[in-house]
Amino acid sequence: MRYWRLCIASDPQSGSAAGNIGSASPIGDLIPVMISLEAGIILKSSSAEREMPVEDFITGYRTTELKPDEIIHSFRIPKSAISHTIRFFKVSKRRELDISTVSMSARLEFNLIGSIDKAILAFGGMAAKTSRASNAEKYLKGKEWNRETAEEAAKLVTEEFNPISDARSGKEARKIMAGNLLRKLYVETTSNIRQDAYKSNFDADSQHHESAVSHVTGKALLSMIL
Ligand SMILES: Cc1cc2nc3c(=O)[nH]c(=O)nc-3n(C[C@H](O)[C@H](O)[C@H](O)COP(=O)(O)OP(=O)(O)OC[C@H]3O[C@@H](n4cnc5c(N)ncnc54)[C@H](O)[C@@H]3O)c2cc1C
Repeated sequence: MRYWRLCIASDPQSGSAAGNIGSASPIGDLIPVMISLEAGIILKSSSAEREMPVEDFITGYRTTELKPDEIIHSFRIPKSAISHTIRFFKVSKRRELDISTVSMSARLEFNLIGSIDKAILAFGGMAAKTSRASNAEKYLKGKEWNRETAEEAAKLVTEEFNPISDARSGKEARKIMAGNLLRKLYVETTSNIRQDAYKSNFDADSQHHESAVSHVTGKALLSMIL
């Protein structure tokens, strides 16, 4: 995990997973990741221990299930299979040292014939707490992962959230960004456009502007592949 892009803490010695999730921020980076991984959180007090899904731990805007005598002890992350595709994308105004405007952590589980058995699409910045795009998830189940499916799921994502407008972004822009993250997921998981774009850059004689290449290839977008 690249420290400067994710879970940035004001104190560089800090920036713990417990702090990031304990803050229960709707734009905390690790919360969508943990939800898409179906991770559990282990809470301990001096006399007891309990575990629950991270998704249930976050109850609302900066509120959690943590009791006053408990600490976040650890996380339990189920092992992913080779048939699982997991991506985290973060949209922020700056590439480094910036909180997300919108983020998405997606996990797609494929079956032997290549259709989607299960989709988890957890979004940050689209509601008071990290929320799943449940209509799009239901739609994707049993479908082939192709351009039409991805496009329909992106439309559902755009429709099913009702985000706020704030200093980082307007509500409509957030909805468009959320849908576009799903389109990005499709491109990143299926195409070789990026590799081809890099290759043509090396092959060509003419001078290219670095930022143009980065934008065409997607390199300039802030994304994190876990
Ligand atoms: C300039 C700046 C940029 C930032 N950018 C990002 C960003 O890009 N992405 C992002 O996700 N966040 C960002 N943040 C927010 C925040 O700093 C991070 O979420 C960070 O991960 C918090 O971790 P920490 O260990 O410093 O937690 P702390 O600040 O120490 O704690 C946060 C909360 O969690 C509680 N807590 C901590 N550990 C435990 C524990 N073991 N048990 C129970 N409760 C606990 C604390 O009591 C507190 O309420 C940013 C903050 C700043 C100032």
